[in-house]
Amino acid sequence: MKVDYLICGAGATGLSFLDVILSETDATVAIVDRRDAPGGHWNDAYPFVRLHQSSSFYGVCSRPLNTPRLAEGGFNAGLFELSTKSEILHYFHDLMENTYLPTGRITYFPMSEHVGDGQIRSLVTGKVTDIQIGKKLVNAGLWGDLGSIPSTHNRSFDVATGVECIPPNDLPQRAPGHDAFTVIGAGKTGMDAVIWLLDRGVEPANITWVRPNDYWLFHREKIMNHPDFFDTAIDSFQAELAAFGTASTVTEYCEQMEKSGMWHRIDPEVWPTKFHAAVCSNTEIEALRQVTDVLRAGHVTRIEPDRLVLQDAEVDVAPGRLYIDCTARAGTILGPDAPPIFDGDTINLFMVRLFQPLFSAALIAFLEARVADDQVRKACTHLVNFHDTPAQYLAEARNGMLNQGAWTQVPELKAWIDKCRLYGMNHLLVGLTARDSEKLKKLSRFAPLSKAAVENIPRILEHERA
Ligand SMILES: Cc1cc2nc3c(=O)[nH]c(=O)nc-3n(C[C@H](O)[C@H](O)[C@H](O)COP(=O)(O)OP(=O)(O)OC[C@H]3O[C@@H](n4cnc5c(N)ncnc54)[C@H](O)[C@@H]3O)c2cc1C
Repeated sequence: MKVDYLICGAGATGLSFLDVILSETDATVAIVDRRDAPGGHWNDAYPFVRLHQSSSFYGVCSRPLNTPRLAEGGFNAGLFELSTKSEILHYFHDLMENTYLPTGRITYFPMSEHVGDGQIRSLVTGKVTDIQIGKKLVNAGLWGDLGSIPSTHNRSFDVATGVECIPPNDLPQRAPGHDAFTVIGAGKTGMDAVIWLLDRGVEPANITWVRPNDYWLFHREKIMNHPDFFDTAIDSFQAELAAFGTASTVTEYCEQMEKSGMWHRIDPEVWPTKFHAAVCSNTEIEALRQVTDVLRAGHVTRIEPDRLVLQDAEVDVAPGRLYIDCTARAGTILGPDAPPIFDGDTINLFMVRLFQPLFSAALIAFLEARVADDQVRKACTHLVNFHDTPAQYLAEARNGMLNQGAWTQVPELKAWIDKCRLYGMNHLLVGLTARDSEKLKKLSRFAPLSKAAVENIPRILEHERA
């Protein structure tokens, strides 16, 4: 079989790339995935997972994920809804079945693996199909494969026989019959598990939470990309740029972020050292604060029926608790040996804009389809890596800003971005006219603030290294 592109990975980024290639070219594509259905890791996510951010700019370019609606109650009340796992999977399934495959330009190989050199091996039958790649191989699963998700990751601690330790995927089945729970892991999955338990009526006193680290969290109320939230969102984004541009140290930057309300933390008494860009509403934070039995003594190393062994402490526990393992690490920091995004006959789908893997994949596809100049492609696609700490975040934010500056220099790309639904800012600007002078005045502050930020971040990081 001969095709123009072979895309390895039918997860969100592979589909986002495919979507733009279909609309901007007449290319043919084979797309392969080890999983049985499109959507990548979402297929194996825990049932109560949701997007962290508004659905308005998640998915692929050509189709909204859902109609923006305000949540009336619950932990996200008053904010735009966050798609559920089933909504996300339905969306990707429907796109593949009813939009992409009917074009006749796509060949989809589920339950199959690219083993190299264009060879696709069925995981069911072992049959190998040879693909001749006319243009490029697109690696859309590299980053996903390097990370880990709760249902498939390898635990880094021992669990003695008789102890019940489950991934959050099994929580709805296994929670009944237990009256005490230990959530292991301080990240977004741990927060989701604690909130699920509280929401199902478990008393906070019956939850223990192992939190080796504390995290800074984005305040969801501050980053709603919708015209109704124009002032709050623009003020917040500009407060962040101002912090990048004026802070002398990483600590000062974090202080400014907290003061502006853009970041918050669960425990006001503990200074977080980590930042993975998880997003929480105020209501979620208030709920999480109700759990006061928090163990901060390093990672769990072993669970015994009557004892929890951590790196820095051992705790006696009553038998019969249900342990929920939320220690998988979704993201991975790529090392210096990571290949470039445009790499000869291969394209590696990495991020070029912070927290936006899908917009990044779409932008890379647009460059592939419409911008032939290798130097321009390179200038527009500095790698924006995952980050673990606020300092790493600063460095990656700067890379993102450098890309953004380069995009504005390519008129065709800029025109595409201005219409792209995956570019969050566009949603804030819907309905804006030349008569909105106050709003336009506010928007004009972005350029000088960004310039100051790009100049100052290296100084902050230099101070950190000194
Ligand atoms: C709980 C959670 C919530 C999130 N919320 C948000 C959010 O609100 N907003 C946001 O923008 N992002 C969010 N993300 C980030 C999310 O990871 C991405 O949005 C996206 O789903 C990642 O897609 P992917 O295609 O990069 O990776 P994956 O989903 O891992 O897909 C890659 C696929 O490639 C396949 N593959 C790899 N190598 C091969 C091979 N050689 N042959 C065949 N198949 C192969 C794998 O089987 C896999 O299915 C969230 C992530 C998690 C875990």
